[in-house]
Amino acid sequence: MRIVALAGGIGAARFLRGLKVAAPTAEITVIGNTADDITLLGLRVSPDLDTLMYTLGGGIDDTQGWGRDRESWHVKEELAAYDYGPSWYGLGDRDLATHLVRTSLLDAGYSLTEVTAALCHRWQPGARLLPMSDDRIETHIVIEDTQGRRAVHFQEYWVRLRAEPAARDVVVVGVEDAHPAPGVLDAIGQADVVLLPPSNPVVSIGTILAVPGIRAAITAVDAPVVGVSPIIGGAPVRGMADKLLPAIGVETSAVGVGRHYGGRGGHDEQGAHDEQDRGGLLDGWLVDTVDADATVPGAIVQAGPLLMTDVPAAASIARQALSLASAVRR
Ligand code: GDP
Ligand code: CA
Repeated sequence: MRIVALAGGIGAARFLRGLKVAAPTAEITVIGNTADDITLLGLRVSPDLDTLMYTLGGGIDDTQGWGRDRESWHVKEELAAYDYGPSWYGLGDRDLATHLVRTSLLDAGYSLTEVTAALCHRWQPGARLLPMSDDRIETHIVIEDTQGRRAVHFQEYWVRLRAEPAARDVVVVGVEDAHPAPGVLDAIGQADVVLLPPSNPVVSIGTILAVPGIRAAITAVDAPVVGVSPIIGGAPVRGMADKLLPAIGVETSAVGVGRHYGGRGGHDEQGAHDEQDRGGLLDGWLVDTVDADATVPGAIVQAGPLLMTDVPAAASIARQALSLASAVRR
């Protein structure tokens, strides 16, 4: 079975770790968000690709959900002694090695796809990890504070400003002219199942879908498309997804996000046949038991516990997503 999953960072990584347990023989291709990528201290950092790679490869700081396990912070302390560098962004010593390898390979002319494969050679994540694009794409958030209306890099908004100023707009710089990375469209076209794990709908899944060609490839695919809600009972499980949904006019709820992705048609709410092509993405939408009354026109909604407290819990969510996929098979 060939499974393709779109992925942000923590939410997707935890889901995918469960998916590997739920489908040990599946060939999994992960299309990772790169719109969070940033250059710091001259180093190219790809936070979501790294979270995926470390989580699936067994090198993640599991409590934090990002960064390396057994991390130390000597470089950060030394930079602080120089009063230099982005003190708001954590670059641990072990993690820095990853960014050094990435940056020097990119500088030598390799693409991000090639560099990611090289990094994964060490981590053996058990899935093929592809960046959504080799082109530079950066999410900027438009805010308005005492300094007036301005756009800041997503990381500055998320990490330094802790998403406190209200987001007025989300601008994905460079995305219109970007191309999907090699292998991305083929993987989607050949998939037996396409999954949208519980990731941030705006700055993770939303940015991947904004790369020209990716959304169209998913809406055109024969395989069932199933999403897992990142919102439980009106709030994001961890993180601040609720800070950005209002900026794109989407209610912070399992229904809001499900309807934002949209049903593909072919099913009505009761699971009966429905010929209408609704132009959405989803055949199935998995929500938490507390959101069991959710409906998404053109998709089948199923409920189950969606809290990824540990790997077995994530595996059972992944199993339910796969069984929903076979139930909605077109
Ligand atoms: P980021 O790039 O690290 O922010 O990670 P993602 O975009 O992949 O994931 C962030 C989203 O994952 C947030 O909206 C959370 O609500 C969601 N999330 C995190 N943990 C869980 C969980 O245990 N269950 C569910 N359903 N969603 C989760
Ligand atoms: Ca991210």
